[in-house]
Amino acid sequence: MKKILFYFCFLTSYEIHAQETDWSKKDWKKHETTEFWDVKPKFVTPSPIVGNAPSDAKVLFDGKSMDGWVMAKDKSESKWKLENGSMTIALHSGDLATKEKFGDCQLHIEFKIPVDAKKSPNRDDAGNSGIFLQERYELQIFDSFQDEVPLYSNGQCGSIYKQGIPMVNACSKPGDWNTFDILYTAPKFRQNGSVEKPAYITVLHNGIFILNHFEIQGTIQYIGSPQYEPHGKAPIVLQGHGSEVSFRNIWIREI
Ligand code: MG
Repeated sequence: MKKILFYFCFLTSYEIHAQETDWSKKDWKKHETTEFWDVKPKFVTPSPIVGNAPSDAKVLFDGKSMDGWVMAKDKSESKWKLENGSMTIALHSGDLATKEKFGDCQLHIEFKIPVDAKKSPNRDDAGNSGIFLQERYELQIFDSFQDEVPLYSNGQCGSIYKQGIPMVNACSKPGDWNTFDILYTAPKFRQNGSVEKPAYITVLHNGIFILNHFEIQGTIQYIGSPQYEPHGKAPIVLQGHGSEVSFRNIWIREI
């Protein structure tokens, strides 16, 4: 009996599969042929406020608590400043990391460059911060408004640091808030550690398209060429450089 049932199931599934894939037997004169009903996307409720977290997002920073964050270096409690609904880099404290680890994602993040960033004694500190996806791949934050602090193009705000130049400069002026909306797919590695698929990133800066499915070439290097190293999910890291950059309204959708 079990055997008969097995063959029945096998034949039935085979016939369904054959029906689905035998496109030569489809009636292309019917509008129904090209309409799919079986799979429905799940419902996600958008926020009534544009830019705020939709119903299925995980809020990483809500302006009230830094509980989801630790210092990247030693996983100690955040030393950054929490004030006026935002968190601001405490100079010389280091990078901040999410406690949680992430891979493929949609990430929304808002940041503000200090008004007097361009007066930094060291040019490289002027509004310098960055968002490291999987603690390795930096989407740069810098005082690049109107290019008043000239820097190599693949190091300006919105670049993938030393790898990719944004298509346009969409920076708000220092003191005003910026948004980054990021679509990121993590790299995939084979058993032997080689790259099966590189990481890709698409970015909207203040709603303006600046990076289009850019292929990330490996872990960011200040000196030398980027290289991939195999890894799994990893924290999102905000860079503490030499400027008091602020952040607010950070949320993520894992995809
Ligand atoms: Mg940086």
